[in-house]
Amino acid sequence: MKVLVVNCGSSSLKYQLFDMTDETVLAKGLVERIGIEGSVLTHQPGEGDKVKIEADIQNHGIAIKMVFDALTNKEHGVIENIQEIAAVGHRVAHGGEKLTQSVLVTPETLQLMEDCFEMAPLHNPPNVLGIKACAELMPGVPQVGVFDTAFHQTMPQKAFMYGLPYEAYEKYQIRRYGFHGTSHKYVAQCVADMMGKNLEDLKIVTCHLGNGSSIAAVKNGQCVDTSMGFTPLEGLVMGTRCGDVDPAILPYLMKKENMSVEEIDAYINKQSGVYGVSGVSSDFRDIEGAAAEGNAQAQLALDMFAYRVQKYIGAYVAAMNGVDAIVFTAGLGENGISMRAKIASELGYLGTTLCEKRNDVRGKAREISTEGSAVKLFVIPTNEELMIARDTKVLCAK
Ligand code: ADP
Repeated sequence: MKVLVVNCGSSSLKYQLFDMTDETVLAKGLVERIGIEGSVLTHQPGEGDKVKIEADIQNHGIAIKMVFDALTNKEHGVIENIQEIAAVGHRVAHGGEKLTQSVLVTPETLQLMEDCFEMAPLHNPPNVLGIKACAELMPGVPQVGVFDTAFHQTMPQKAFMYGLPYEAYEKYQIRRYGFHGTSHKYVAQCVADMMGKNLEDLKIVTCHLGNGSSIAAVKNGQCVDTSMGFTPLEGLVMGTRCGDVDPAILPYLMKKENMSVEEIDAYINKQSGVYGVSGVSSDFRDIEGAAAEGNAQAQLALDMFAYRVQKYIGAYVAAMNGVDAIVFTAGLGENGISMRAKIASELGYLGTTLCEKRNDVRGKAREISTEGSAVKLFVIPTNEELMIARDTKVLCAK
């Protein structure tokens, strides 16, 4: 069974074609600058060389059509015709409270995704565009929606509510939703497999550390708390997002700097985080480089990032009344050797010890704690696309 996984952004589209008999990736690629001058599709068949195809790609429908052409191309294609694709899995950012697991796309479930437009204005509309474009080009082929919020829907109400008047929840569904759910779920399952235990018997803290970062507490296979909230802004100090701040700072700054709602929104989403603190970059490699050269603000940004992660780990150990394993994933979690060491250096109270030698790894699944460590530490490369393909296969086999 061949499954296409599609992740549509406002001006980009990522795809991977899986052969689900053995979960191999037949091809993958990316369309960039949709609707903008200079649009381009980069396609990579299996282990083969990348092919760049430049064209005027005005909308997501044209982008999907180009992906289909690339997949069936005589030279760099990997399938004979599009009918070989049995189903398409779509990454959808927000599923709200009603979409608590992956679903087959129907007029009803599509409406529920559209109902979340206001809560995820940058993500859900292009996600839905991608679904509609695929459905039109391949009528009758099942489309599946997989939601970044779904895994977190098991959080108890005491964890997902904010201390605002209850009517804010009733009227506007203001609550913690959490994001990166597919990634947290994937790495938690991998940890259980690597430990040779059932996920249902474990307490795991999953740290998805990338440009956007979040942490989740996964108890007996279910998410019981996570650091991102109503939007992906809450929680850790991120690349350019501020994470947790005293909410009273926002009206204060708006008054002082005479900022509009749009300006304060950009300030906390795009100009803050380790970028805003360091004044150097949002990329941890640049910040580490600057810190090594003696840049004090860069060092401060790294210290603040690690400290916030350590605090959240502590909070989630408390939320689960214990912990068996802590796992690092995503760009920084998978590759940031020194950041992992920095974070782990203050976890000794848990009976955790990092093995420096094992920690010398990038992008590979590995235990990085010492043999006798009471709480295990792992690095696991995330694979959200594979999770989407798996859910799609399961739903289409029904
Ligand atoms: P996104 O949230 O955009 O998906 P990624 O998961 O790709 O982000 O992570 C991007 C982050 O990973 C960047 O901030 C980058 O600095 C960091 N990163 C990637 N490789 C390394 C490395 N070798 N050392 C430290 N940080 C790294």
